[in-house]
Amino acid sequence: MTPERFQRVLAVLAKRQPDLTVLMDEVNKPHNLAAIVRTCDAIGVGQVHAVTPSKQVRFGNATTAGSTRWVDCTRHADVKLAAEQLKAQGYQLLCTQLSARSVDFRAVDYTKPTCIIVGAEKFGVSEAAAAVADQHIIIPMDGMVQSLNVSVATAIVLYEAERQRRDAGFYRQRRLTDADYQRLLVEWLHPRVAQFCRNHQQPYPGINPETGDLLSHPGEAEVELSPEDGEY
Ligand code: SAM
Repeated sequence: MTPERFQRVLAVLAKRQPDLTVLMDEVNKPHNLAAIVRTCDAIGVGQVHAVTPSKQVRFGNATTAGSTRWVDCTRHADVKLAAEQLKAQGYQLLCTQLSARSVDFRAVDYTKPTCIIVGAEKFGVSEAAAAVADQHIIIPMDGMVQSLNVSVATAIVLYEAERQRRDAGFYRQRRLTDADYQRLLVEWLHPRVAQFCRNHQQPYPGINPETGDLLSHPGEAEVELSPEDGEY
């Protein structure tokens, strides 16, 4: 790891927005999933949720440009349960769709903990997700076509969230908890060590905050790392 790489990781983690996320409600084209994840990474969303009916749907492809490594993707089997879980965690749920209760997407306060729900390419957001949402939001459409591509719509809404949060100073100081920050430092800077620790149910080692190098840790003596396991 070069010093430049380490500084880049620190700068990115300093801007992560742990209380902003996206719930993809059966978005099923891999390039759309991938493009959404890529936009999430670009504005500091580090955790996304996807209800994917088919395990065949994969996140990683050329469109992600590697962003799936930097964004945690949680799969859910049921959109209603996923939405209710997020609501219970304090997120406002914003459903992107045209309905009688839809408001202009710019009229919403995105500085609150927010989950943006986006829908399937053909059928849109499911009734179950629309029903549990706190608000419905719409990007105005004045052309002949009635809807945008889902990844484009997601990007437009996310960048409004980014604008409001930037104005509110949310990108000026680290917002990740210390625990998540330390965990992500190990996973990003030393992915094979992180994998080894998970496989062997070992706690992650500490990180030297000046260099990004791993600190020795109590379990190290018992952990016999093979070259495949880690980067010691
Ligand atoms: N026929 C579908 C419908 O009626 O919802 C169109 C789905 S659209 C191609 C796919 C997704 O993109 C939608 O579920 C929504 O999440 C998002 N989307 C597209 N255009 C939008 C707009 N103008 N405002 C808000 N969300 C939009």
